[in-house]
Amino acid sequence: MVLLKPHELNFIRQQLSHLIQTVYFVGDYRTLRLTEEAVEFKIGEVISHLSPEIRNLFQNITRFRGQGEVNTFIQSLSPYVEKFPKLSSNQVRKLFSKVKKLSMPDFEKMEDLALEYLGWRDIATHSLYLVYHEKGELYGLDCRYKPISGNKSVFCCLCNQRRIGNQIGLVTTKRNNDLVSGNYMCLDSQLCNQDITDIRKLREFMGV
Ligand SMILES: [Zn+2]
Repeated sequence: MVLLKPHELNFIRQQLSHLIQTVYFVGDYRTLRLTEEAVEFKIGEVISHLSPEIRNLFQNITRFRGQGEVNTFIQSLSPYVEKFPKLSSNQVRKLFSKVKKLSMPDFEKMEDLALEYLGWRDIATHSLYLVYHEKGELYGLDCRYKPISGNKSVFCCLCNQRRIGNQIGLVTTKRNNDLVSGNYMCLDSQLCNQDITDIRKLREFMGV
């Protein structure tokens, strides 16, 4: 069965939350109707490749009038969302074979999570390890990060959310011996994953 990708679920949640915001803050009926139509159209595009069984869950998708209802709906979709594949420590070691003292992710904590990528840090060496999967293949990327100072806030290049202070760092990596630098990225990958609605930048960064 074709399932929803985590970033597609995030997109759906974002669209429905936008609808709720319009219900609350825009009194004008016409604007609300237009928003409903736009939301219905955008979500319709995202779910068009899914089976009728899943698409049926989206009937009257613009009926929600409170964020609580949206949250319950999003929660109800979780059986239909792709989970990140289970990794063994051997697989992780193989992906980062050049790293001498590799720290391992918390396998238990990440079990059964719907993630677009898996990321974990080694605070001692300021390393950030990223794993992405596509079509049964795993991609690993070994990065360094520099935390940003103070209350400066910047946008994460993967999730496009504004983050402040210790939530975000300047990330560099090497690809084919070339230095890839200057990417601000969330240091908490679970937080980042919740807000990714488009995976183009992630794929590009992972070299897919
Ligand atoms: Zn992010």
